[in-house]
Amino acid sequence: MEQEIHITLRFDLATGKATLNEIVYRLKQLQNQLMVKILERILTGYDDLICDRLSGTYPSKERKGLGHHARANDPKEGFCRCRKVRKRGYRHKPREFSTVFGRAKIPLRVVECCQCGARYSPLLHALKISRYARKESNFEHEVIEAVIDTNYRRLVDGRSIDISLGGIHNIVVGSDIDQIYQKTVNLEDLSAIMADGTGVKQHRGRKGELRAVIGVTHKGRVEPLGCFANTEWSQIESIVKDRIKKNEQHQLPFVYDGEPGLDTFLSDIAESQRCAWHAPRGLYHALWQDNLKKKDSQPHMDKIKGLIGIELPEHEYELLKEQDKEQVQTRYQSSKAEITELIETFKEKGYRHGASYLENLAGRLFTNIEIWLRTGVIAPKTTSLLERVFREIGRRLKRIAWGWSDKAVTKLSKMIMLKQYSRSKWEQFWLKKLGIEGHFTISIRSVELTPCQTF
Ligand SMILES: [Zn+2]
Repeated sequence: MEQEIHITLRFDLATGKATLNEIVYRLKQLQNQLMVKILERILTGYDDLICDRLSGTYPSKERKGLGHHARANDPKEGFCRCRKVRKRGYRHKPREFSTVFGRAKIPLRVVECCQCGARYSPLLHALKISRYARKESNFEHEVIEAVIDTNYRRLVDGRSIDISLGGIHNIVVGSDIDQIYQKTVNLEDLSAIMADGTGVKQHRGRKGELRAVIGVTHKGRVEPLGCFANTEWSQIESIVKDRIKKNEQHQLPFVYDGEPGLDTFLSDIAESQRCAWHAPRGLYHALWQDNLKKKDSQPHMDKIKGLIGIELPEHEYELLKEQDKEQVQTRYQSSKAEITELIETFKEKGYRHGASYLENLAGRLFTNIEIWLRTGVIAPKTTSLLERVFREIGRRLKRIAWGWSDKAVTKLSKMIMLKQYSRSKWEQFWLKKLGIEGHFTISIRSVELTPCQTF
């Protein structure tokens, strides 16, 4: 059904004095107000159309999908099938909605079913809003976007939208963002998996731990796998594993920075790799426990750094000469041997902590080299990408999540990750949630200037 809306705006312009700034400033003040008026007009027109269809002499095909209502007096009987009505005026009070533009008031028509006598407002069902809903979901969308961009105050101010921090909390907790984090991930699309945790301030300043698992695609992009607040690694592992589609041939490292409890994380789908940046630094701490001063442990740390810093040729694996591969292979073997020697030296010198630290590390330092030698895939060997993700999340949570529950922190982190790193999935999530399917389009036909009519 095509219709037109004609809008009359009146402005007063002091010739030669009105500036661009002033004109834009006043227009900006008008925009939300104007949208509310347009919305109200479209909805009342929509209401008229529906009620005409139901009360007029249209063939039943034309009334399809309209006039859905519960049978009067006997709601347990279910819904009435009759689609013929008599108009019965309007509700006493207009229905109010919070929209992203501000509050809208719609006078609602009431009709009476010709068969069961039920009185109802057919517009509500057509709009797909529940009986008690007072907000539309674009509103929810904008609130969440604004929260993520840490500027929700600006959204709320000046739009007669009344939403408290508690209200935002409810919107976040009530969202179904988890759905996206249940979809299957193909292991073949990833070049590594990473996991780590970071501290977050929660309710009443309680310190919580936010944990995240990400995949890294072959292009080096983040594929969010999950966020968890105050959850055991074993539980996280089983949730993440459920999402991953295994492929026997595919080999990839699981990179972590030595967090306790992660040594065997996802060990049946990935090979653990200690972060090449954190691993040498951990040695400093172990040797410190063996009473070594910084100047005495530094040479050992430098040595480890050198040993694991094997550069991989950047050329395509298939095009490499055998001797280039052999060079890496030789260096890999000698590095491994040197680490074994270093462990022996530590033992001889009585560096108990240092020796056991290195022993634990030894099998996890060259995973990316081993994978490359077998497959030619260059996989990440540090957790730097995940650290960047945590900085992004942390910066936002710090501003907004103080005083929030585990559930809110988890959901919000999931949203932040998705919006930041999986933009298209984030947009799809909202299109689906808002139910945007191309049943309403609107465009500007003309904007004309006419002198004021005076009577
Ligand atoms: Zn009825």
